[in-house]
Amino acid sequence: MSSQVELSQQEGSPLLGYASRLLSRTDVAQDTVAFRFERPENFLFRAGQSIDLTLLGVRPDGSDCLTHTFSIASSPFVEEILIVTRIRDSAFKRVLSILPLGTHVNLSGPMGSFSLHRNTSKPAVFLAGGIGIAPFLSMLCSAAVDKAQPDIFLFYANRYLEDAAFMNALWDLERSNTNFRFVPTFTRIDGTSRGWLGEIGHIRPEMLSKHVSNLRGPIFYIAGPPAMVAGMRRMLVDAGVDEDDIRTEEFAGY
Ligand SMILES: Cc1cc2nc3c(=O)[nH]c(=O)nc-3n(C[C@H](O)[C@H](O)[C@H](O)COP(=O)(O)OP(=O)(O)OC[C@H]3O[C@@H](n4cnc5c(N)ncnc54)[C@H](O)[C@@H]3O)c2cc1C
Repeated sequence: MSSQVELSQQEGSPLLGYASRLLSRTDVAQDTVAFRFERPENFLFRAGQSIDLTLLGVRPDGSDCLTHTFSIASSPFVEEILIVTRIRDSAFKRVLSILPLGTHVNLSGPMGSFSLHRNTSKPAVFLAGGIGIAPFLSMLCSAAVDKAQPDIFLFYANRYLEDAAFMNALWDLERSNTNFRFVPTFTRIDGTSRGWLGEIGHIRPEMLSKHVSNLRGPIFYIAGPPAMVAGMRRMLVDAGVDEDDIRTEEFAGY
């Protein structure tokens, strides 16, 4: 029995988790850092799913919050697991932000069913609030490889230009995928801020209709903090979108 447990811990399993190591950390926006972890050999997931990340052998004073859930931001086609987060003064993030490269961690999962539908006749409309971009980046990178995907529209809301992570990667994805339209919007800038000529203000029905010809055809995906997800869902339902065509990923705890 004990040898069986040892074997599965070594190989990893969705239940017991997989051993991994921190490979790099990169600033991707203001107070926003992407962490790249070694992808365990037998760790399979679908774009849009999430993991539980457990920091091992570190116990910040007075806290036992050593495990947090993160959407995987990288595609299933690459040999790494990327996560992204806003760095705040929380016990978990204080430890994560100074974790030495090479440190062993535990990843468990994958979890969730927030994945792109396969019916290519129905467009996908992604609504991302801030760090809610993570599962969509995974889906878009995956769509760039697996071409049998529906048309995708991404509406990406941030307060300021400097808060928006992965902007260059997203513009590059739009340039390389004719089925993908990228619409960033900024909620706290005025129309002249640093020459920004794109959308400003919260994602709203008129903004969606400007880019998506019919709001009753697509499947809508919303990801971000719970209040943002609730607000976007209400907006879509008020605009006549069928509840069955709305899928959400709430970053609970955010
Ligand atoms: C499916 C899923 C996917 C997720 N994906 C991501 C992701 O890709 N990236 C990401 O960053 N996060 C993601 N999250 C959220 C993540 O798990 C954390 O909850 C989040 O990052 C907050 O962690 P924290 O350490 O900053 O706060 P914690 O210290 O864990 O705080 C937990 C709770 O306490 C509240 N809190 C913290 N500090 C204060 C304070 N000073 N005053 C009042 N309340 C406070 C927080 O609002 C939160 O409700 C996801 C969550 C889920 C469920």
